Amino acid sequence: PRPIELLNAALAGTAADRKKVQVKDAVVHWFKMDLRTGDNQALFLASEKAREAGVPLIGLYIVSPQDFEAHLTAPIRVDFMLRSLEVLKADLEALDIPLWIETVDKRARVPERIMELLTEWRAGHIFANMEYEVDELRREAKLVRLYAEKGIAMEVVHDTCVVPPGQLTTGTGRQYAVYSPWFRSWVRHVHENQELLELAERPGMNPPSARERYSSLFECDVPHAPEGKTLSEEEAKVFHALWPAGEHEAMKRLAKFCEDAVGGYGRNRDLPSTPGTSNLSVHFASGTLSARTAVRTARDSNKTKKLDGGNEGIQTWISEVAWRDFYKHVLVHWPYVCMNKPFKPEYSNISWSYDASHFSSWTEGRTGFPIVDAAMRQLRGMGWMHNRCRMIVASFLAKDLLLDWRMGERFFMEHLIDGDFASNNGGWGFAASVGVDPQPYFRIFNPLLQSEKFDPDGEYIRKWVPELKGVVGKAIHDPYGRGEGDRARKAGYPEAIVQHKGAREKALAD
Ligand code: FAD
Repeated sequence: PRPIELLNAALAGTAADRKKVQVKDAVVHWFKMDLRTGDNQALFLASEKAREAGVPLIGLYIVSPQDFEAHLTAPIRVDFMLRSLEVLKADLEALDIPLWIETVDKRARVPERIMELLTEWRAGHIFANMEYEVDELRREAKLVRLYAEKGIAMEVVHDTCVVPPGQLTTGTGRQYAVYSPWFRSWVRHVHENQELLELAERPGMNPPSARERYSSLFECDVPHAPEGKTLSEEEAKVFHALWPAGEHEAMKRLAKFCEDAVGGYGRNRDLPSTPGTSNLSVHFASGTLSARTAVRTARDSNKTKKLDGGNEGIQTWISEVAWRDFYKHVLVHWPYVCMNKPFKPEYSNISWSYDASHFSSWTEGRTGFPIVDAAMRQLRGMGWMHNRCRMIVASFLAKDLLLDWRMGERFFMEHLIDGDFASNNGGWGFAASVGVDPQPYFRIFNPLLQSEKFDPDGEYIRKWVPELKGVVGKAIHDPYGRGEGDRARKAGYPEAIVQHKGAREKALAD
């Protein structure tokens, strides 16, 4: 059975027992990738349970260094989550709700430690939002059963997608593997089920007794990043200025984007030198913003008050946020993509290259292809890369350097502030033509044409590859091929490490 089926079976199998559990002294919400108080389904249910019984709500967050390792979580992403936790903690405290944060070194210890805490706090109920990665679904399935045996009710609910995985099927009852028909069905489904865009209320104030009874829980601090996941002082300074953390910043950014930029999104979203996209991915990935809130806000700024029709930029943006749902649905339905396998089994035996020197030229932004190098340096400089450039560098890695796409997928996770397994895996599968609804294998991005089309004046390249600042006109896209080789060489910019034409023919032949 798929991991989600295990969890659904655990929830169904324990439903009667969980119903019987009496609320004891407190109700707990376990925060994971949902670091916000607004529009948070499980938090809302937990707060309702606590309110009805007149007992306090306690927030719990477990820092698991082993999970960071297993998920290749980038230090910049860890740092963003810890800063978002500070904001969350303050927001909860304003409601007299404590947020207990604890580091548990061995991930296998997490279930037992949570059980100990529930016992110590005399809590009968714990709520959490569902995470769709394989390990998490399996863990939650075990926890639901284990806790039920001990007389504790664990409730795990859908929250992160606008449409929960499993709700959209083709006419013949199958999971969609192609985005366009899936998206039409997604729009129809949301229009027919308006409650999917209803926002969950923020929790109310805890009873006054909570401060006294759980006073020690208010005293815990947000920990520092674990070893191996820390930022240098210089990095911290740059990244903190670039990426203000927490729910309020997410809401501000969303409002500003919907006011100023969403209308032009259709035109500008492919131009990496223009701030034409929302930069909200980090907030979706950390759960400082819900996809529901985002889609609802965009829908409400559309004059049709619908997901389709009306303003083209709004429609296009909503369709992009929907890609995030799409890839999570794919992960839930075909969980083996999580295990280093391509979506299409026939692509398991492609003989990829593992050339270390090509790979390091790619990671360092020294391939001699200015658009590729600019993008890879943007990734290091910001912990983020523009979507168009993610496609260009991914295609370049897989189809020009013929390197195993999983090396690129991994490197992205290790450096992205918005690293998200499903979207990253989906994006790499698309670009390398091995994923669900991929780019056809014979469509190979030409980095030069991409550069001319999407960075016509070379503004993006000049920003991230300062060696080429002095190169004028169209030569910026290919200095050695267009008569600016001497200048590029003098500035220390490398020549192309492969020839696109030859690489293209080899990729097609392979
Ligand atoms: P906007 O253009 O404003 O889009 C709004 C939101 O829609 C994004 O924040 C994101 O949540 C969602 N979205 C947009 N495009 C996509 C897409 N193609 N797939 C899935 N969701 C999308 N996105 C991640 O969040 N995490 C990743 O690890 C990630 N890895 C990627 C790897 C590759 C090779 C590729 C091609 C794409 C990847 N993406 C990933 C998708 C996309 O590039 C980013 O979501 C986007 O660039 C984020 O910038 P933004 O918030 O300004 O996006």
